[in-house]
Amino acid sequence: MNSPDSEFVEREDHAVYETQEPVLYGVADGIATLTLNRPTFNNAQNSQMTYALDAALRQAVDDDTVKVIVLRGGGKHFSAGHDIGTPGRDIDKPFERAHLWWDHTNKPGGERLYAREQEVYLGMCRRWRELPKPTIAMVQGACVAGGLMLAWVCDLIVASDDAFFQDPVVRMGIPGVEYFAHPYELNPRIAKEFLFTGNRMTAERAFQMGMVNQVLPRDQLEHGTYALAAQIARQPRMGLALTKQAINHVEDLQGKRTAMDAAFAWHHFAHAHNDLLSGDTLGGFDAKAMVQANKAAAGGERS
Ligand code: ZN
Repeated sequence: MNSPDSEFVEREDHAVYETQEPVLYGVADGIATLTLNRPTFNNAQNSQMTYALDAALRQAVDDDTVKVIVLRGGGKHFSAGHDIGTPGRDIDKPFERAHLWWDHTNKPGGERLYAREQEVYLGMCRRWRELPKPTIAMVQGACVAGGLMLAWVCDLIVASDDAFFQDPVVRMGIPGVEYFAHPYELNPRIAKEFLFTGNRMTAERAFQMGMVNQVLPRDQLEHGTYALAAQIARQPRMGLALTKQAINHVEDLQGKRTAMDAAFAWHHFAHAHNDLLSGDTLGGFDAKAMVQANKAAAGGERS
């Protein structure tokens, strides 16, 4: 029988998880705390973590006692980005999906990554940005590439003075991470510098650019973040939800949503181009190669 399934591809999933709880959840005093819990791997985001985060955010939205959500990373760093090389890398593992894009894991060509990233990166990030309760990212250490996406979808960002922000994926031939908020988080000229160089941006500079609300000494980060959350938690739920919608709407009127759709298409041209040239959608870079290239680039870097 000539089955349409002949175009489908069998892929094996070899992920080995170091934890069954990639996101920790707790609630106290009207504030939900979601903690990225892969500290051994600097909170690299595999699908296991992404779906756990989606579920935890839903839990926080559904809990009427929760007024504000704090998203933080356990360990030294907020998040080193998407998982491109830990034993728990699970991009070919099917999960129960949050949107109506079909399962990517058995799809050929560019369809595989396009469907996956519509779901787990662009789709999830938009959904998280639009959830109706205020969210605060509490950032220490590295907030790199996919880590930026998690911080950027939050309404407020509080960073420690040792935090840094970086999107080095241009090195892979890719024009920035999937949730392309760079020219909105920074002004366009600074966004170009940020991407063209791939350099780290200090918390202080991010504060000057308006990307970060507060910069605190590391030992005061938690206290300061929760004081801010507690103040917001005293406001009425609907007042907060409507305010958030109004400001997000202004951003979308300024083109954020449509700009992101175009950037996502260019992003996927880059993945496909890499695949044509090298057989690898990331242009041959895994986590180790990126760290090495980062170190080499840091030789000429001032921050
Ligand atoms: Zn991508």
